[in-house]
Amino acid sequence: MADLTDKTALVTGASRGIGKAVAERLARDGATVAVHYSANKDAAEETVSAVRRAGGRAFPVQAEFGTPGDVDDLFARLTDELERSTGQARLDILVNNAGIMGGVPPEEITPELFDRLVAVNARAPLFIVQRALEIMPDGGRIINISSGLTRVANPDEVAYAMTKGAVEMISLHYARHLGPRNITVNSVAPGLTDNGGPVFQMPEAVEQMARMSAFGRVGRPEDVADVVGFLASPDGRWVTGAFLDATGGTLLG
Ligand code: NAP
Repeated sequence: MADLTDKTALVTGASRGIGKAVAERLARDGATVAVHYSANKDAAEETVSAVRRAGGRAFPVQAEFGTPGDVDDLFARLTDELERSTGQARLDILVNNAGIMGGVPPEEITPELFDRLVAVNARAPLFIVQRALEIMPDGGRIINISSGLTRVANPDEVAYAMTKGAVEMISLHYARHLGPRNITVNSVAPGLTDNGGPVFQMPEAVEQMARMSAFGRVGRPEDVADVVGFLASPDGRWVTGAFLDATGGTLLG
C-alpha cells in the first residue's frame, strides 16, 4: 500500500463507477479525498461514507462541468473544504475522471452534442489542471482518464473519442511543462469497465464485451483504480507523459 498520508486528492466524477473506486483507493492509501460529483449527491455521499467506514478521510464537492463558471465553482468549494478539513488549500493529486459518452451514430452527431462532449470531457479537465497547479506543490500528480477508444474504432463514439484524444494531449504537453516541478502527468485508458450502468446488467451484452479482453471478462472499477493508485504513489515518480493501457488487453486485437 502506498503512503499518501498527509496528501490531498481531487477525483472528479467520484460519485460512482471508476471515480468512486479511485477515491476509495487513494483514501485507503492515506490521502484526504475530495469526492467530486455533478448531480448525484446521494451517490457522492455514499462514496464519502464508504471511505469513512474504511477509516479514511473524504468530503463531497459539487460542480457541473459544461456550465458557465464550472471550474470556478469547483475550486471555490474545493479550497474552502480543503482549508476546513486540512488547514490549508493544497492539492497533491488530481484525477480528471468525470466524463460523458456520446453513443450516437456518426450521421446523427449534432454541433450541440459535440460541444457538450468537448465542454465536459476536454475543456473542463484542461482548466481544472490550470487551476489545480496554483495550489499543487512540487512532486504532485495529475492523472487524466482517457479511453481505449483512442486506439480502437467505434464509429458511434467518434465525437467522444475525439475528446479523449484531447485529454491525452493535456498529459503529453503538460508532462513536459511540469517536469521541472517534478509533477507527473499521465493518461490512463480503461476498456469496457462495469460502472453499474444498465448494459452491465445484461448477461448477453456482458459476455460479448468480455470477449474483447485478453482476460475474458469486463473490467472492474478497481482494475483501473489500482493503476491510478500506482501513478499517484511515490513509485510512479519516473513515469510522465505516458499512455497507460488499462483495458485488460482489449487493444491486443
Ligand atoms: P460513470 O459511472 O458514468 O460516472 C460518471 C461520473 O462523472 C459521475 O461521477 C458523474 O457525476 C460525473 N459527471 C457526469 N457528467 C458530469 C458533468 N457534466 N459535470 C461533472 N461531472 C459529471 O463513469 P465511468 O464509466 O466510471 O467512467 C469514468 C471515466 O472513465 C470517464 O472519463 C469515461 O469516459 C472513462 N471510461 C469509462 C469506460 C467504461 O467502460 N466505464 C471505458 C473507457 C473510459 P454524477 O454521478 O453526479 O452524475
